[in-house]
Amino acid sequence: MQYEISFDIAAAIVFLTILVLFYTKKKSPYQYNKMFALLLWVCFGTAVFDCTGTVSLSYPGLFPRWFEYLANEAYLLCQNCATPIYAMYIIMLTNSGRKTKLIYKLLLAIPISVVTLLIVSTPWTKLMFYFTEDGIYQHGSLFILLYIVVLYYFLIGFYFLRKFSASLSFEKRLALYSFLPVVGIAVVIQFLVPYYLIQVFAMSISLVLLLFSVQNAEELLDNSTGAFGREIFCETINGDLMAKQSFAVLSVEICNSNFIGKSIGLDRMDDVLKVVVAYLKSIHKKGLVGRMGADRFCVKLPAMSKYEMAQKAEMVRARFADSFEEVNVSDVFHVKIAYMDCPKEAGTIEQIVDVMDYVSEKQAEDTIFDAADLDTTNRQNYHEIRRAIRDAIEHHTFQVYYQPIYSVKEKRIISAEALIRLQDEKLGFISPEVFIPMAEKEGYILEIGRFVFESVCSFYTREKLWERGIEYIEVNLSVIECMQHDLAGRLFHILREYKLPANRINLEITETAMAYSSELLANTMHRLAEDGFTFSMDDFGTGYAGIASTYDLPFDCIKIDKSILWTSMANEKAYIVLKHTFALIKNLNKKIVMEGVENEEHIERLLELGCDYFQGYYFSKPIPEQTFVEYLARFELPEILENS
Ligand code: C2E
Ligand code: CA
Ligand code: CA
Repeated sequence: MQYEISFDIAAAIVFLTILVLFYTKKKSPYQYNKMFALLLWVCFGTAVFDCTGTVSLSYPGLFPRWFEYLANEAYLLCQNCATPIYAMYIIMLTNSGRKTKLIYKLLLAIPISVVTLLIVSTPWTKLMFYFTEDGIYQHGSLFILLYIVVLYYFLIGFYFLRKFSASLSFEKRLALYSFLPVVGIAVVIQFLVPYYLIQVFAMSISLVLLLFSVQNAEELLDNSTGAFGREIFCETINGDLMAKQSFAVLSVEICNSNFIGKSIGLDRMDDVLKVVVAYLKSIHKKGLVGRMGADRFCVKLPAMSKYEMAQKAEMVRARFADSFEEVNVSDVFHVKIAYMDCPKEAGTIEQIVDVMDYVSEKQAEDTIFDAADLDTTNRQNYHEIRRAIRDAIEHHTFQVYYQPIYSVKEKRIISAEALIRLQDEKLGFISPEVFIPMAEKEGYILEIGRFVFESVCSFYTREKLWERGIEYIEVNLSVIECMQHDLAGRLFHILREYKLPANRINLEITETAMAYSSELLANTMHRLAEDGFTFSMDDFGTGYAGIASTYDLPFDCIKIDKSILWTSMANEKAYIVLKHTFALIKNLNKKIVMEGVENEEHIERLLELGCDYFQGYYFSKPIPEQTFVEYLARFELPEILENS
């Protein structure tokens, strides 16, 4: 057979060119670069040995038999190593390799080792190929194994690419994926038309693509400072986050770079920043410095304790307190430094940037921030929401809405939960889920709690709600309120003002409150209960406390969180748990309120389970006082509840 080797010669030239480019280019300091180099060499070897092997086959007898064996073995070895190396390259690139378990390492190593052994031993075993007596090259009985193994590594590469490629940019993904079909199609062509040696050439084209997208180091580095550009830095961080790696991040913001830039001249600023970056690189040998903005740098460090992070931060602060005389800058840089334990304190790039933004807003130069101390949730709005809370307190613009609670036994609306509403002129509606935790932290919650309690008493007496069938109103108590020594005194004071008996109020305390101060809480609850207050345990099923914590506490009612109902509708196991929870609570002689009842399906299930009270959008959303009074007047029993 006459083979067409010009493709191989072309491929060898392309590989050589890429090798030269690769070694002369700037590179990022990653392990995967070594893999890429290995891949290039192996491909180059494939092309060269394919030529020699083919020439030796085309002219039988020209070379000694041992040389024919050697050339063809070398070709097969190189060709078969290319795909495992490609797979390894992807694993390293997508960062997924760091946690490779032993079993996966074996899965990677064993097939290629077996194939290598078979190829090397083929002059004796003739399993891969052999020469007939008249010197003709023939495939051995296990030759097909080579295709299977190539396919196997392709699939591994593909698997990791799919699983982790979200951390890579679009072009990179495209280049990486293209390797598979380009080489795949060529393999098929070569299988069908064996003398057309196109496969190696196809690989060379793919590697050119990789070189210009993935391996393009220029794009990676921020040329003026030598730090990584924002894109590649974020990509690295994302890769680590996806691989569930822990690491530390130290962010440094230079507050007065404008001032310094003006005083030394902007053209010199780059040189100065180079020194700054070089310093940041030096704080840890495995540190990775990224430039996140004109004046912002991030150093990614290996996982370490918060104490070590604080020490590093202090070291950096001390360095910046000194001037950079080596580049003739006599002014000192003022910096803000933050450190965070990732992914615990910042689990996404956005959250890392959030921390930096948050710190950036603070009027505190030369200060170190621990991300654990910052509340960056709703950061942009944080100040605004705090302002809105203050305004609402000052101008009495909080409102209390009421959500009806239906009694299965009485077949009517028997109660309502009081829920606070904050409508701000600028921000619009702000959910209590957002501002209550904030009010707790900022100390406004006691005032808010008092306002709600007073509004409820006022509404209840003013509208004589007991005459409309409302036996009591449920009021939420925050954990902070529960921890006040004089809570009972305060509540009685208000009740007396409205001449309301305590049994008209049911206090809701969340399950999580049990975890805080059980003794103080127990004392307060018993005092309140003696005087007639009743209690519901709120959000049951979302905390860790569980039913056991209620044994010594005077709860009359357990209020199961809506999420528990909703998951139990979709998930059989969750339903079984709910069923047992119901049985348990009933055995303890406590009533059950179900939150989040939205439709008839929910009602059906809950009737089966023997639930005592329903609350949810099926009946009504929380509504203002007047609407609530009208709702009561108009309430008609839904058909589904008539025969319950
Ligand atoms: P919570 O005590 O669990 O209140 C029930 C929440 O579930 C309310 O949200 C209510 O509107 C909502 N909900 C009830 N039924 C349904 C339903 O069928 N479907 C859906 N999607 N939602 C339903 P809201 O009013 O946003 O209150 C959120 C949380 O804010 C409350 O959770 C409570 O923890 C807190 N909160 C509200 N008002 C007060 C208050 O006056 N004091 C205190 N300390 N906390 C309050
Ligand atoms: Ca509640
Ligand atoms: Ca709840």
